Amino acid sequence: MPITPLVLYGRIVTFDADSRVIDDGALYIGADERIAAAQERGAPAPAGFGDAPELETGGTIYPGLIDLHNHIAYNTLSLWASPTRTKPWERRDQWPDDDSYKPRVSLPANALCKIAGEATLKYVETKAVIGGTTAIQGSAKVPKYNGWLIRNIEQETFQTGEVSVRQSVRKLASDEDFKRYRDAMVIDKHSFIYHLSEGTAASLINELTALQTHDCLNERLIAVHCTALGDPEFDAWNPGSTVVWSPFSNLWLYGSTTAVRKAHDTGQRVCLGTDWSPSGSKNLLGELKVADICNQRLMGGAFSDEELCRMATSNPADALAWHDRLGRLRAGLHGDVLVTTTREDDPYRNLITAIERDVLFVAINGYPFYGTPSLMRSAHAEHAEPIRVGSDRRSIVLVYPEYPDADMTWAQVQDELESARGDPKRHEQERRGARPRGRTVRMEPEKPWDEGVEVDELTLDNVPLPELDALTHDKAFLRNVERQGFHGGLLDDLRSYYSRDG
Ligand SMILES: [Zn+2]
Repeated sequence: MPITPLVLYGRIVTFDADSRVIDDGALYIGADERIAAAQERGAPAPAGFGDAPELETGGTIYPGLIDLHNHIAYNTLSLWASPTRTKPWERRDQWPDDDSYKPRVSLPANALCKIAGEATLKYVETKAVIGGTTAIQGSAKVPKYNGWLIRNIEQETFQTGEVSVRQSVRKLASDEDFKRYRDAMVIDKHSFIYHLSEGTAASLINELTALQTHDCLNERLIAVHCTALGDPEFDAWNPGSTVVWSPFSNLWLYGSTTAVRKAHDTGQRVCLGTDWSPSGSKNLLGELKVADICNQRLMGGAFSDEELCRMATSNPADALAWHDRLGRLRAGLHGDVLVTTTREDDPYRNLITAIERDVLFVAINGYPFYGTPSLMRSAHAEHAEPIRVGSDRRSIVLVYPEYPDADMTWAQVQDELESARGDPKRHEQERRGARPRGRTVRMEPEKPWDEGVEVDELTLDNVPLPELDALTHDKAFLRNVERQGFHGGLLDDLRSYYSRDG
């Protein structure tokens, strides 16, 4: 995409090693899609910005957030809880067998992905970006698609053509499995994202033991959840791997969460992921609040606000070995930025307490994708269209003429999903493959137990597709949180963060 150089004025939070914050700063993003400088407003501009649009954001500028764990195909769905289960689940292989799981989660997710793949993809990407996310993991079964709104961590090659991230939702079993991924990590230096010991059952510790036995505990391992691991396990784990923390989902399903302070103290890097919307936050700004609640209520405030914010910025960039690509605001890195309102003196507290309405602007590679109508106009965003986020007006760019795959407007996304929900069978018959320019995007939910679900006409007749999950942490979401899940009331505290959201 042709990029116009941009200059953003505001408070700049660099996440550099020295934690530099520039109270009245200027961030320069060049036509090469990279940050040219993050400096005081009054300092001389780098070359090439003579005609660049200048955005007076009046806000605080952060690196775009990196969601290191998700399953995006499910994020059209709202929170799910079994109506009959009375005590927390102990293992992740239990809840997919619940009677309500298939009709409430598996079938609707499969149906929408199948009959409205592109609209589903655009909806869930939009949901992430309005919470400041610019890179997301969890798209294993989205075919290679030219026209992503946000960075897809598994497919991102930074135009080198070389994928550097592997993942498995499935549990590794055979020696060959372990060897394949160990070689990927050790020989190819690929990152490996792997669900580890998800649940609370002591038997799940075996999954860590198996990695250890196969020599897979190294600095390229990105282990998701690790909720069943206790002090002895973290003590025995070589330092330098990454643990991905999804506290909402952990508490919702299992009634407890990862010992992240212990993980941090024994030398593991901690990152945040939202997991998926049936048991998680809607976006990373939401998950930061859950991390904050857990930090205050369960860990005595052991993490600083800056450390929590690094879990969504510099830590995931380092975990992926993308420290020279993303995660900080520094010359040479890609121009992925999030601008929020400034409400707090402390810039990290300001990010933790930011809600969707505080998100003023999001750019990826310096390209303006989302923001207030005035900032999007100032940035000369092309093909921007209105989007209603809660009670606020924003602009979003979903159509990029250079990419035939990116041909669906937000208005069409909503229309397509409404049509699919309203009469799935007719929608499937009438609109199958009807995209005017692009290919048909066929997404698939990638959890192993949801594979191979036939979404035939019978299913479409018999399964009512639920309402789409709202884009924001709205009143209905907060009410659901207070009524359900196994968090013991801990997540009720979320309401206090959203009380400004009239
Ligand atoms: Zn997961």
